[in-house]
Amino acid sequence: MGTVNPGFCAQILDEVRQYLCFLNDIGCTGIGPGPTGRQIAEQWEGRGARTSGGLEEIKEGIGACRRCRLADERRVVVFGHGNPRARLMFIGPFPEAEDEQAGIPYSGEAGALLTRIIEAIGQSRESVYISHAVKCRPQSDRVPDKFEARACRKHLELQIHAVSPEVICPLGGFAAQALLRTESPISRIRGEFREYQGICVMPTHEPAYLLVNPEAKRAVWEDMKKVMARISH
Ligand code: SF4
Repeated sequence: MGTVNPGFCAQILDEVRQYLCFLNDIGCTGIGPGPTGRQIAEQWEGRGARTSGGLEEIKEGIGACRRCRLADERRVVVFGHGNPRARLMFIGPFPEAEDEQAGIPYSGEAGALLTRIIEAIGQSRESVYISHAVKCRPQSDRVPDKFEARACRKHLELQIHAVSPEVICPLGGFAAQALLRTESPISRIRGEFREYQGICVMPTHEPAYLLVNPEAKRAVWEDMKKVMARISH
């Protein structure tokens, strides 16, 4: 008999957990949802892409989210901040400690740099919208895994749909990969416009990366010039 891969088992268990949390989210009790529960689930899935819910409504729904194991690690859900009708949206990877403390994305040193980047293109933190691909912070400073990123993607999709920006800038590989469903590294996908559901996407480097690799700021500036040209139309 072959040996059981513990990592694979953990993935399966995490998938099961996510599914059970999903059933709980949509109001099903018990393990087997039955025909009615399945119908609700199908309706809920369909509604994900079409909801007209505002940001406040979505934020309220996420507050008690337990779709992935980060629910056990977080102190608060860091939802998003800025103009709910922004033309430009930035999406970072996941909250840092300072973000969790303030309840606002990009509240620390990387956030100060992001503010300078935003201001350099004639915008302000109040005119854009800033969020993360994953809304809860792992307490061990680990990077969220792909199951957690996938679990949180539904929230991100709803958020993007509510804001309806003209341009989205994923900051760094994690956010770009989560949004664009790609495995390509940021070095390969930054610098050119991509597309997400009809919205222009400009992946660029993450501000925290720029703090330790200041030479990459030039590339970010090139990306931002393209973003500026697109939103000034
Ligand atoms: S990371 Fe996202 S999916 Fe996971 S518990 Fe937090 S809000 Fe829910």
